[in-house]
Order: sequence, then structure tokens, then C-alpha cells
Amino acid sequence: MDKITIIVPCYNEEAGIDFFYPEVQKHVEKIPNCEFFYLFVNDGSRDGTLQHLRELAKKYPKVSYLSLSRNFGKESAMMAGLDYAEGDAAIIMDADLQHPASKIAEMVKYWREGYDDVCGKRIDRAGETWLKRTCANIFYAIMKKFSTSYELQRDVGDFRLLDKRCIEALRLMRENQRFTKGLFTWVGYRKKEFPFEVQERTAGASSWNYKALFNLAIKGMTSFTTAPLHIMTFIGMTVSFGAMAYMIFVIAMALIYGDPVAGYPTLMTVILFLGGMQLLALGIIGEYLSQIFHETKNRPIYLIDEMNGAKMIYRHGIFTERNIEQR
Ligand code: UDP
Ligand code: MG
Repeated sequence: MDKITIIVPCYNEEAGIDFFYPEVQKHVEKIPNCEFFYLFVNDGSRDGTLQHLRELAKKYPKVSYLSLSRNFGKESAMMAGLDYAEGDAAIIMDADLQHPASKIAEMVKYWREGYDDVCGKRIDRAGETWLKRTCANIFYAIMKKFSTSYELQRDVGDFRLLDKRCIEALRLMRENQRFTKGLFTWVGYRKKEFPFEVQERTAGASSWNYKALFNLAIKGMTSFTTAPLHIMTFIGMTVSFGAMAYMIFVIAMALIYGDPVAGYPTLMTVILFLGGMQLLALGIIGEYLSQIFHETKNRPIYLIDEMNGAKMIYRHGIFTERNIEQR
């Protein structure tokens, strides 16, 4: 009998969370020789999500939940789920049922064929706005150009089944600035993509916006490649050589024609251009510096407030129940 945990990060999902269990259970029941468990991760919701989860856990023995001490973001919530998932594999799914549960049987089939990372590939990008699609195109193009050793999977998100060995590998990566999409690629192992269509949200609203997506893209680039730094070095060298040549030209012209004052437009252009380049280069260095800043503090990725009804405490790197804590 295979045991699979379904990890569900939830942030302000009270409106739709009750539909999740019956809908998914309807599909997974039919899968032979497989037992499914549910692990909901409440990512500091501001609505009644936690209350709903408590009730679900009381009602169904296969449901358990973690509640984080505040909103840490989906990436951290997923890590919490992976840390506490038990069994031979785990499936990560959105709480809003945008990931079709009908695909789970297919995922399990691939996993049993020997794949370690069965990931859903969206085939419905056409329905998105032009701006969002263009931004995604640019992002993937840059990432593809920069990262030489491994390639980011196109249109592949967090809907996936992970074998135990992928989970163990992901548990080793305790970085704070998590770009999970890249981490999945980084661990390698045998990957299988399957197509799926993102469904309508059951209820509530998406918590992503352009600002969040832009930040994610920057994080993705700065945490997975140092190519921008190399590019700036290259540009800096080119500009310096150009400047040297131009300097010789200017001096020669002044010596030959004795024309010391002309050239205000050129001067302005050069100053503004170089100023801009310098700020850009500083910005890029700053992005990497901020990564280092966050990582060197070595803070935990998340804090658990409550787990299946028990208050938790974090001590010496592990979470235990607060009331059985030894003094
Ligand atoms: N989510 C989370 N923490 C956050 C934001 C989102 O755990 O800070 C969860 C959310 O509850 C959902 C999943 O991540 O289960 C995807 O979020 P959402 O539906 O808002 O994103 P979209 O589907 O629009 O990409
Ligand atoms: Mg969603």
C-alpha cells in the first residue's frame, strides 16, 4: 500500500476550503493500492481558514494541519508542508481547486512507472492577459540564456507529485529566499511533465499581483544565476575601452585644432549614460547583497504556531508541543 500526502498551502481560503476535501477525495478513492493523507498549511490567514481546518481535522482522520505564526508566503508554506509530509510521496496542490484533482490518478501512474517528480504543465496560457504572457516570455528567455547547467521548466508550477527522495533533497535546502520552481529543477532526478488546464478559482481571490510576480522574477534570477554580474563586468569593460579611445580622440582634436570648449551635448550624453549604467550596476549588486543579507541571518524559514490542535514551540532547531516541553 503506497502512502501519499497531499500538501495544501492555504492563505485566506475560508470560502472554498470546505469543498477541497470532498472534491479531491472523490477522485483519489478510486486509485487502487494507495492511501491518501491531507496536510493543510495555514499560511497566517486573516480570515477563518484556521477554524475551518480545525473542523476538517476533527471530522476526517486523514486530515491534519499546520498553522504558521504569520503569513510567510506560499514558498515557505510549501516547505513547511514538505518538512512534515509523511509517506512515500507527496502531492502539492492549491487550496482553490485550480489544480484538477482528476489528474492525480495519472500522476500516481507515472510515479509508479519510476518517475520521481511528476509535474503539471499548464496548457492554457492563452487565456491570460497579453502583458502577463509577455512578462513570462521575457523571464523564461532570460533564465534560459543565463543558467547553463540546468533549465527552468516552462509553464510548470507547483502542482506536482514528489517522490520521497526529492522531498529529502528539498529538505536539505534551508535557504530563506526560496525560489521553489528553481529548487525543483536543481534537485534533478527523473522528471515527467503532464499537461493540465488551470481551473477557475472555487472562491476567494488570487493573492498574486504584478508587483509580487516581478519580485519573484528578481528573486528567481538572483538566487539561481550570477550571470547579471558577469554581464555588467562585460559592459563595464566595453564602455571603458570605448572611453579610452574617445579620450585619445578628444585630446588629439584639442591639440590639433585647439578647440577646448565645444561639446556640451556629448558631455551631457556621456554623463547621463554612465550615471545610468552605474546605478544599474549598483542595483544589480544590491540585489545580490540583499540575498546575502537575508541568508546570513540564517533564520528559520517558518514558525509553526499550531499543529493539529497543539501549540508548538521552536527550540534547538525543532518544533515540539508547547505543553509537553521539559524544563
Ligand atoms: N498561498 C499561500 N500563501 C500566500 C499566498 C498564497 O499559502 O502568501 C496559497 C493559496 O492559498 C493557494 C496557493 O497558494 O492555495 C496559490 O495562491 P493563489 O490562488 O492566490 O495564486 P494563483 O492561483 O493565482 O497563482
Ligand atoms: Mg489559485
